[in-house]
Amino acid sequence: MSLPTLDTLISYLTIVAAIMGALLAALWLSLIIWAFRDMRARSRDPFAQLLAALLVAALPVVGIVIYFILRPPETLAEAYERALEEEALLQEIEERPHCPGCSRVINDKWLLCPHCHTRLKKACPDCNSLLELQWNLCPYCGNHAVDPYKANVVDTAVPAPNPLPEPEAPEDVEPVGETEL
Ligand SMILES: [Zn+2]
Ligand SMILES: [Zn+2]
Repeated sequence: MSLPTLDTLISYLTIVAAIMGALLAALWLSLIIWAFRDMRARSRDPFAQLLAALLVAALPVVGIVIYFILRPPETLAEAYERALEEEALLQEIEERPHCPGCSRVINDKWLLCPHCHTRLKKACPDCNSLLELQWNLCPYCGNHAVDPYKANVVDTAVPAPNPLPEPEAPEDVEPVGETEL
């Protein structure tokens, strides 16, 4: 078995180098395509997409590091999702019940607003369920005798203090006896 000649060795090395070169070129190309696609997912600006691809193309290893540092932190889809979430959150805050008197957030189980004392709900005189002020029957127990706006106001209104019995006016003492003759 003879040793390979220098010429065959060189040709083998050339083939290996060519394969390595082709692989590196493929890697370089795919990195350029990846950078372009990634930037397209993060920015609508065609100039920025082109710039990202050019950066990676011009600086094969350093370019991809620079691109990772400088690229926008979130994709367009993520930004859209975040905007949707924020909108939903805002809508939820807006849909929470507000006091008609002071427009502060209230609990829907409150009878009165603790901030401005506005009447918010009324209680059914029969079953004590919370009713809207304008209802004139109770949907829970079927009580038809619920006075709109006024049902069960007494339970929260401060009862008027009983007027003190007026001191009885001293009865006119009829002069008795004097006229008698
Ligand atoms: Zn209020
Ligand atoms: Zn009721």
